Amino acid sequence: MIVAERYHDISCGHRVVGHEGKCRFLHGHNYRIHFTVAAHELDEIGRVVDFSVIKSALCEWLEENFDHKFLIWEKDELLTQLQEIAGDSLVIVPFNPTAEHLARYLVETVGPEQLKAYPVQLISCKIEETAKCSATYSL
Ligand SMILES: [Zn+2]
Repeated sequence: MIVAERYHDISCGHRVVGHEGKCRFLHGHNYRIHFTVAAHELDEIGRVVDFSVIKSALCEWLEENFDHKFLIWEKDELLTQLQEIAGDSLVIVPFNPTAEHLARYLVETVGPEQLKAYPVQLISCKIEETAKCSATYSL
């Protein structure tokens, strides 16, 4: 299989509800998010898709929706209090915002919507919270 990959860096806050250690606190990461897309066949000039499509459809989605914002689970007990002080900088998500859940959300929800006009599919996403720690979700 031939795939095309591109990564994008964003800064984002979150907390992990129920975490046994310090990740339960409000904190953030300089995330590096890797997208892998695949197609049934290469286009007439030999590409899975132009890399600019990954940028415009997926990297720019991250810029508009997650960059410099705070991800919070809709069931987080701090949601109401944080909404009062953080307002538009909060992004309410339907999952506890671990790297694993973020990767799955991008592949299952964001990818199909953002790439629907193109003959490619987001098949995998790797989320690096640090240079040492990452999670990957693949179809
Ligand atoms: Zn974290």
